Amino acid sequence: MTGELTALREAAEAELRKAGTEEELQTVRTRYLGRKGLLTGLLRNIGNVNPAERPEFGKRCNEIKEDLSARIDRLLAGMALKKREEALLRERIDVTLPGRGIRRGTLHPVTQVREEICRIFAGLGFSVVEGPEVELDYYNFEALNIPKNHPARDMQDTFYIEENIVLRTHTSPVQVRIMEKTKPPVRILSPGRVYRRDSDISHTPMFHQIEGLLVDRGVTFGDLKGVLTMFLKQVFGEETALRFRPSFFPFTEPSAEVDIRCVMCGGRGCRVCGSSGWVEILGSGMVDPEVFKNVGYDPEEFTGFAFGLGLERIAMLKFGISDIRLFFENDMRFLEQF
Ligand SMILES: [Zn+2]
Repeated sequence: MTGELTALREAAEAELRKAGTEEELQTVRTRYLGRKGLLTGLLRNIGNVNPAERPEFGKRCNEIKEDLSARIDRLLAGMALKKREEALLRERIDVTLPGRGIRRGTLHPVTQVREEICRIFAGLGFSVVEGPEVELDYYNFEALNIPKNHPARDMQDTFYIEENIVLRTHTSPVQVRIMEKTKPPVRILSPGRVYRRDSDISHTPMFHQIEGLLVDRGVTFGDLKGVLTMFLKQVFGEETALRFRPSFFPFTEPSAEVDIRCVMCGGRGCRVCGSSGWVEILGSGMVDPEVFKNVGYDPEEFTGFAFGLGLERIAMLKFGISDIRLFFENDMRFLEQF
């Protein structure tokens, strides 16, 4: 029996020397030490061994078993280490290589204009606020001094959702909502989407407005002119000429439309300015006392001015774009130019 054990051990060792892969090592382990392995088989049949030799035989079997098992573990560990070292060598990264460039998108021209305007007014202490696009008739019209059947409602082609719910036609309802909740002084800027039933080369059913409101004691039309002049010169350049024309809005009194010297032709007259040399850029005025009464401000104590402008219009003039619909076609070739 001892001879058999020695032979078995030598055979196992020879096989281990030949084994070159983890898989082969595992095969050797199974063949000798597995549940149906050769060494396991000898131990199981220990009853066939001469009783006097049994203790010695069992001891030898276990020694061989432990020895083989430990050797296989060592070989496996060595192989794993070698494999890892090879992988590290193969996958070495040169951290000094320059990174791959990421293709960056650009901001939409309307977004660029909105951000620029917000930045300019932030410098004057205005904060940016927002309001709902689906708006109550009250905020969109009534509170802004546009009662039902008021002729001014004809100026705006409104999308109605229900009798008293509309898609807001301007960003002005936000000023009412803010004034209802805040005591003066108020300095806000409210950018957002507005909706009107209109579509041609210079109108889209959805476009962007920005509305500004300043309320405090002693605010005058001179403040309105000063702030808007500073603002337009920052957007269109210090040498830009402006003019204020009397106008009408239901929620301001007096009201003024502001024109700038045509940026396309420099005032000589072109298609954009309708050969007048001027382009209308925004509407403004002193807040009507009726609007203050609606939000609980005392018009004897407070005055203020408001203004509103279309972001697409500013972007068209600033970037020389002739068709408003280009903004919403999402053509990358167009958008990447800005
Ligand atoms: Zn012009």
